[in-house]
Amino acid sequence: LPDQKIAAGKSFCGGFSCAAGACPFTCCMQWIISVDPETLRKWEEIPVSSLTAACGENSFSPQAVPDQYGTADGRAERPPASLAEIGTVPDPQSGNSRIRPGGNGECPFLLKSRLCGVQTAFGAGCIPRTCRIFPRIVYDYPERTEFSLSACCPEVLKTLSGMETGFPGLLSDFETPEVPDFLWQVRRQILLVIADETVPTGLALLTAAYILLDIRDRAVKETGYGAANAVPGAAGEWFGRYENPAFLAELRNAAAGAAPDPEESLQENLELFLDLTKNYSEAGMYADELEPVRKKAERLADSRDRRREYINNNVTKGGPRRRGTGTEVPASESRLLRGLVLAECVSQLASPDTDLRDLMLTFEWIVMEFSLGRLLLILWDNAAGEKAGPEETIILLTAAARVMGFSEDDIEEYMESAFSEPVWEWGYYDLLIG
Ligand code: SF4
Repeated sequence: LPDQKIAAGKSFCGGFSCAAGACPFTCCMQWIISVDPETLRKWEEIPVSSLTAACGENSFSPQAVPDQYGTADGRAERPPASLAEIGTVPDPQSGNSRIRPGGNGECPFLLKSRLCGVQTAFGAGCIPRTCRIFPRIVYDYPERTEFSLSACCPEVLKTLSGMETGFPGLLSDFETPEVPDFLWQVRRQILLVIADETVPTGLALLTAAYILLDIRDRAVKETGYGAANAVPGAAGEWFGRYENPAFLAELRNAAAGAAPDPEESLQENLELFLDLTKNYSEAGMYADELEPVRKKAERLADSRDRRREYINNNVTKGGPRRRGTGTEVPASESRLLRGLVLAECVSQLASPDTDLRDLMLTFEWIVMEFSLGRLLLILWDNAAGEKAGPEETIILLTAAARVMGFSEDDIEEYMESAFSEPVWEWGYYDLLIG
């Protein structure tokens, strides 16, 4: 780092360590892993037979080698003779190469020990840049460097829930002595609201949505620009009202009292879940996590009576008006769900080339991820018919993060095609969060 640069997020990022062979949901499954040109050059210098020896048995599956080399049982007759046969093929779009997943969706270099064959045989210097960096995310701003972690790794939720300082510690890790820029302050307001564990996560998200819309309206009014270009000369006090306890309490009361019809809210969550997971289901990805829930979601989405029955059976009578999809995520799992939302807000809501409109679309995307993760926790049962415990919850929420692991451009494209108004009014947040 240049001397004068501030580093944010060092404790969060520094507290992470990869579970390696003990990882229950490895990142090199069901993802197309990119191989940067420098790594590819190194691989080309290694004899193919040595690389083959570094492969796990997946490299001999039909998807990883051309069909003509397959035998009747689907295994290759002979070891791969080239990088292309191992499964490393050029990606014309990015200029990088890609490792095709093997037959069961795993990286061909993943060994039975669940360790990386390339790292084991040739050292960490020979693994692709993506694998070296993941799940760390580094953003370089003119005055600061930010380190954060992707929620697509199960260890990240564990790291977050194990931080001695808890969620407020996460926030202070991202505070800086300066008042850096407008979007940093917008994200800070959202983080402050969501990290408050005295408020249910759904209600906190609704409050944050209100604040975000209010910030947008004020910024547009002050500057005369649309949300993409509205950057008021905001000093710290511009945001003061959002930290005023009376203002926040008023917002929360209004949001809590405006709960929509639970059956309509449940239906919206079900339809969104089915839409977001459709392609993954067709590709057979994350089947253990998604399929049991998709089956239930399809049955419920098909029948208003079933939805009503579901809500009647799951809503606790007589308690405070419930927010959610007719049922409640247990407390320990709900903390992990909040952790997922916070991790995503920290790492996704701001990047050096984001503007306010992009930030709002990304926030909506995170709310959709909350909806998807919550539905997974509510509807998923294991083979014995039991609900997810903490370990399974972490896998389910990691799956939610991976399903939602789109780039900023892809998010914009989805929001523009799926919604007539890509920037939601508060009422749609209310319907979805329930
Ligand atoms: S998902 Fe995370 S813990 Fe698991 S192998 Fe990848 S980086 Fe390591």
